[in-house]
Amino acid sequence: TKNVDILGIPVSSIDRHTLKNNLISHIENAEKSFVVTANPEIVMTAKKNNSYMSAILSASYITADGIGIVKASRIMNNPLPERVAGYDLMVDFIRVSQEYSYKIFLLGAKPEVITQTVRNLEKYYPNLHIAGYHDGYFNIHDEEETTLIVERIRALEPDLIFVGLGVPRQEEWVAENYHRFDKGVFLCVGGSFDVLAG
Ligand code: UDP
Repeated sequence: TKNVDILGIPVSSIDRHTLKNNLISHIENAEKSFVVTANPEIVMTAKKNNSYMSAILSASYITADGIGIVKASRIMNNPLPERVAGYDLMVDFIRVSQEYSYKIFLLGAKPEVITQTVRNLEKYYPNLHIAGYHDGYFNIHDEEETTLIVERIRALEPDLIFVGLGVPRQEEWVAENYHRFDKGVFLCVGGSFDVLAG
């Protein structure tokens, strides 16, 4: 995939449909992938915080999650095809997972929120295979706590892991732990669990 430089961030020149197909083929081939949907908050945080910038740069795909980023790319004569938002990708992959029987894991949000998100998903997507979930209120830098969560996720062998720990924690968590997984598409989804908990 070609990249477009937006304030030092190589944003993937890819549309939502192509990215969806690429991620499906990664799942089919049991390959790992890390997707960051770069919204303005992410871009600004990366500008200020070098270690967060490194985390972002380790992603397989960085999409433009903001019309401002798409417009900036046009001004630079290197147009990105369209906005690709984390929430939209999450909904795409809930549908894809139900259709193709992919196993998903949800990580993030408050305990009462994530249980409600799971309840809603079970209600609206009765054939969706939710392998497991965990709230997002743990210390991402606590080695013991993180190892327990990583081991639990690894044992469940999910095809997709939705990570909604907020910025910058979600991308830092994936970047730090990615090497411990053999497979899985890691999709950072911000506050999407709260939306799905409705
Ligand atoms: N979140 C979390 N752990 C934390 C902080 C936030 O799981 O320590 C979750 C929060 O409950 C929400 C999501 O991350 O579901 C996004 O949080 P917030 O709106 O604060 O961040 P932003 O939208 O700015 O990324």
